[in-house]
Amino acid sequence: AVGSLSLLFYVSSIFAGGYQKEFEKLNDENHKLERESNLDKLTGLMNRRGIENYLHRRYREWKLIHSPFTVAVGDVDYFKQINDRFGHDAGDFALSQLGMLMKSMVPEYAMVSRWGGEEFLFAFPLPMEKACEILEKLRSEIEAQQFDYQDKQLKITITVGAAEAAEAESLADLVRLADRRLYLGKRAGRNRIVSKDE
Ligand code: GH3
Ligand code: MG
Ligand code: MG
Repeated sequence: AVGSLSLLFYVSSIFAGGYQKEFEKLNDENHKLERESNLDKLTGLMNRRGIENYLHRRYREWKLIHSPFTVAVGDVDYFKQINDRFGHDAGDFALSQLGMLMKSMVPEYAMVSRWGGEEFLFAFPLPMEKACEILEKLRSEIEAQQFDYQDKQLKITITVGAAEAAEAESLADLVRLADRRLYLGKRAGRNRIVSKDE
């Protein structure tokens, strides 16, 4: 009887060990999927869903302790022309290059995401002025770059609207304000950072 009992223990420990491994594997896969669902495939940046979590956290923090918080929405200028002249693949290439450049120029402690088609959303735990210094460097670097795609040279500029948490009544309001300034920047001639209304 003792022999068959220990055999039973032995067999069930094999099963338990197997299940444990299976469980860990599933858990790892879930985490990987979770990470991927927050990432944009083309640019490797966080996607809209991913950044929204971060925005809510930062905005709550601003409400509580007034830690500086600036949001900016950037949009590629005349992007439709890039597609029309050089093809959709060239447009995709430009977006992925822009994503890389943005990631390399936005500090680790801040965030940049692909907000929509050719729109990017930035979130800085910084006051407006400091955030705009970074954005201005990024804007001029993009303007200076030449993006080589096959035998074509693509020139790109972006327009950005920025707004600070203290200027808005809610997170949605904050993003709307940044969006409005982006629009003002487009109307004023593009390739610029707008941080005020008028
Ligand atoms: P503006 O300076 O006013 O922003 O002009 P625009 O041409 O950039 O603006 P518009 O909104 O007219 O065009 C945006 C274009 O971006 C249209 C759409 O086909 C293209 N687009 C959006 N997402 C992607 C993408 O993932 N890949 C490519 N290749 N094109 C995209
Ligand atoms: Mg757009
Ligand atoms: Mg555009």
